[in-house]
Amino acid sequence: MGIISKIDPEVADALYSETKRQSENLELIASENFVSQPVLEAMGSIMTNKYAEGYPGRRYYGGCQFVDVTEKIARDRAKELFNAERANVQPHSGSQANMAAYFALLKPEEWPEQSKKPVVMGLDLSHGGHLTHGHPINFSGVFFNMVHYTVDPETEQFDYKQILEQAKQCQPQLIIAGASAYPREMDFMKFKEIADEVGAFLVVDMAHIAGLVAAGIHNSPVPYADVVTSTTHKTLRGPRGGLILCTKDHYKSVNRWVFPGVQGGPLEHVIAAKAVAFGEALKPEFKTYQENIVINAKALAEALTEQGFRMVAGGTDTHLMLVDLRPKNITGKDAEELLDKAGITVNKNTIPFDPEKPFIASGLRLGTPSLTTRKMGPAEMKTIARLIDEVITHRDDPQIIDKIQQQVKELTSAFPLYLNLLERGY
Ligand SMILES: *Cc1c(COP(=O)(O)O)cnc(C)c1O
Repeated sequence: MGIISKIDPEVADALYSETKRQSENLELIASENFVSQPVLEAMGSIMTNKYAEGYPGRRYYGGCQFVDVTEKIARDRAKELFNAERANVQPHSGSQANMAAYFALLKPEEWPEQSKKPVVMGLDLSHGGHLTHGHPINFSGVFFNMVHYTVDPETEQFDYKQILEQAKQCQPQLIIAGASAYPREMDFMKFKEIADEVGAFLVVDMAHIAGLVAAGIHNSPVPYADVVTSTTHKTLRGPRGGLILCTKDHYKSVNRWVFPGVQGGPLEHVIAAKAVAFGEALKPEFKTYQENIVINAKALAEALTEQGFRMVAGGTDTHLMLVDLRPKNITGKDAEELLDKAGITVNKNTIPFDPEKPFIASGLRLGTPSLTTRKMGPAEMKTIARLIDEVITHRDDPQIIDKIQQQVKELTSAFPLYLNLLERGY
């Protein structure tokens, strides 16, 4: 048992229950993953005690010689992994990485001399964008004059000509590409051409697909974007946090806007864990892992299609799919709650041009990074598609739902996770 269970059983109980939940449930949330034991160890380390405002070699505190070592390793590995000129590994999250990126390029210190807010173009949230891509209640929607592009109503994919036309009309100073719920590969070269045509900066937020990009399975934004932002905890399978990659010319401004611009002291324990995760991602096994994520996503999408679900954009090239539930006459909200009862964890999601409000939604977003980390394969994806369909078909029969939950437990126990943590109590 860990020390915490003797000292603070209330918190220890919740930690244990959460470990058990992660281990026994089928985790299909596309933005989640399971980190390795070394990543977990670095993250739970004594580096949390250290204040280190500034950057390696230029800190505002003494005693930084060892956090300098890990931060430099993290930076160097990030640059190697993505073939980037420069990296900043301090953003606490993807949202803060985006905030720093926008400010670094659009220079708010100069705004008082301008009569209007800068125009920024980003993907509509209900079409797969992120809050930080200009939602009115997010800082991005407050500080910038946001214009949104959408997917094409027919193909449910980007129509780059249409996006170019819109860019010509609204003349953005910055275009943000990237998504939280776009199942197809996007073309960063085309986004660069659009940005160049209208003289805008290009920021690519690769939060979801960073692992696929690192493994060379998805085209990389690094050669095209002025600044690339990411999270480190999704397909990349690192600790919860953010990352910025950029060219030499933007590095000073990016660094200045991460610290002291939007953050204070960096989370050096998380940065150490980022270093470990980037080291794992540089190994050949990581490429195989990412390939398997995509193989599993395709298998799950096909099996669900056979069960009568409709895949938005006709399927997936990535780690995730958007499932249109309307053929099954159930809302995203209801499906999410039902599946949770059976131990299948998903999130409701709007589909493009969704008739329902976001809190209800007509779709589910499903992803395979977590299940692939557990070493599940296409055969399990087929079983899971059947279980999902059975839950939805038998929505009014709690006994059947209980039986399915039993099957979920059997399936997950064949692919054990964090066994040593469960054995010692959390
Ligand atoms: C997850 C995500 C983020 C933000 O991540 P947080 O770490 O939760 O702030 C930003 N952009 C996109 C596209 C994302 O999917």
